Amino acid sequence: MLEQSHSITYGETTISFQVGFSSRKTLQIAVHPDKSIFVKAPVETPIEEVKNRIKKRARWINRQIYYFSQFDPRTPPRKYVSGESHLYLGKKYRLKVSKATNDQVRLKDGYFLIETQSIKPDRVKILLNQWYREKADSHIHNIFDACWEKFKHKKQYKPVCKIVNLKKRWGSLSKAGTLSLNVELIKTPKECIEYVIIHELCHLVFHNHSRDFFYLLDQSLPDWMQRKYKLEMSLV
Ligand SMILES: [Zn+2]
Repeated sequence: MLEQSHSITYGETTISFQVGFSSRKTLQIAVHPDKSIFVKAPVETPIEEVKNRIKKRARWINRQIYYFSQFDPRTPPRKYVSGESHLYLGKKYRLKVSKATNDQVRLKDGYFLIETQSIKPDRVKILLNQWYREKADSHIHNIFDACWEKFKHKKQYKPVCKIVNLKKRWGSLSKAGTLSLNVELIKTPKECIEYVIIHELCHLVFHNHSRDFFYLLDQSLPDWMQRKYKLEMSLV
């Protein structure tokens, strides 16, 4: 993700990590659920010092990696049958499928209530995905508008926001100024959706993941790292 990638050797393992420098006082090491290692360091820190710190924390880092590996694969395939849990804005809801003359999807008392003529999983999947799409179209646009209001760089033009199906990314910003957001974001907490939007808005100013980019991200959303972490854990 970052421009600055480094690695150290510890025993028989190689620990690869990414470093972001910003105007902070202390060095912070984070192991993310995808097992990537991210270091936040004060601007003037020599890379040798960062490597020494990684070496000192190597046992802890390996423990974290081992811990996260128990969650592979991350998203269990869904069967679209009653009793199964599905996510909406970071919360889990149980599916309750029942026969009815009219198709309807509702959230009530912790349940996704799905009424449909055909209770076949294929049909339930289509109905649920339509519901997600409608919610994404309204909520994510609202969150985007609110984020834009808070985003400091008024020199930039407001991008056009589109909700799309993306295979591997949460969001992207085109050179022409179109912000594409993954419809799947509607399953994650609002604070995570805000993180993805602010991250992409920072790309209006810096098109890479440079030091300046992370400085702007820190300024715009000081707790972005916690939000990113939460996002990575959210689709389990
Ligand atoms: Zn980015």
